[in-house]
Amino acid sequence: MGGLAESDVDPRRRPPLRQDLAALEGYHSPQAQVGVRLNTNESPFPPPPAWVEALAAEVARVEWHRYPDRHALALRRAIAAHHEVEPEQVYAANGSNEVIQALCLAYGGPGRRVAVFEPTYRLHSHIPSITGTGVVVGRRAADLGLDPDEVRRVMADAAPAITFLCSPNNPTGMVDDPQVVAQVAELGPGLVVVDEAYGQFSRWSATALVDDERPLVVTRTLSKTWSMAAARLGYLVGPAWLVADLEAVTLPYHLDALKQVAGCLAFDFEAEMAQRVTSVVDERVRVAAALEARAVLQWPSEANFVLFRPADGDGHALWQGLLDRGVLVRDCSSWPGLEGCLRVTIGTRAENDAFLAALAQAVGP
Ligand code: PMP
Repeated sequence: MGGLAESDVDPRRRPPLRQDLAALEGYHSPQAQVGVRLNTNESPFPPPPAWVEALAAEVARVEWHRYPDRHALALRRAIAAHHEVEPEQVYAANGSNEVIQALCLAYGGPGRRVAVFEPTYRLHSHIPSITGTGVVVGRRAADLGLDPDEVRRVMADAAPAITFLCSPNNPTGMVDDPQVVAQVAELGPGLVVVDEAYGQFSRWSATALVDDERPLVVTRTLSKTWSMAAARLGYLVGPAWLVADLEAVTLPYHLDALKQVAGCLAFDFEAEMAQRVTSVVDERVRVAAALEARAVLQWPSEANFVLFRPADGDGHALWQGLLDRGVLVRDCSSWPGLEGCLRVTIGTRAENDAFLAALAQAVGP
């Protein structure tokens, strides 16, 4: 886990960890105390000061001696209004990772499988694994786009209980073709999850496909554009029957009162959030142009990060070179299908300048 000292308890007194977990590699984005952190795709901007003030006022009103609203109705109403759906079609949890975990607990488990298309968000296979669900791995096309024939093949061969799509995809930033996603949603019989953690940056959203007749959900998070990574709040929009099913795997009062009000208030600040998206996209265009000018290979991002590969293909050496200059990016260079690649989160203008300056120094003129 990092940070904690090894225990000196006699190993014979330790209960054995589940064997399948012992074999599993953990998921940790290396953290380092550096000036410029562009490795975890957070918003570079804090939330609006008016949101912080409103939250402080609400904190004073929380009945701390009482459990919070178990069904988080006010929060689900606010999310539903944002997406123009019914509150019964919204499920919220402690980050969209926990939403994914709830889906795996409800529809996965021993003897069932999920399908993922690599390279993609690593927790789409890690979370199923920790819930005892099998993982079937399909590949993306050579340009790292989703390959509809491969999706069809994997779904036909493996009959997955859940198929994960990710649009914009992490770590490529690429958006899936709406027609392909609509086709995948009809393939069945399993559930299709479209992870839209970066959905606000995309030119389209699969929320338009959500319908009680279709086993498809869209997951979203307040960690990115909404500038609330510290609050840990994510949700899905999906069929009402699925939201009702998730009740079976949700712990009582899983969303604390503070998070519920923080989330409700967030939706009063939509204009500020839209402004943040515009600022990040402007900066992404600038960073992408600077990478292009250096003839660095990159993938067309519609998110708040860019995947790139240095000309000499030695991503890990460049990652270290950037770190030595006080800039932390994500090292994807050893991930299957991403040999030599790094992913940089778009930061503030000053942070992006620091990244570009460090890049220029590390790779030379
Ligand atoms: N999905 C994707 C594609 C992500 O990149 C992330 C964050 N790294 C998440 C989900 C998880 O976000 P949250 O903070 O809501 O758990």
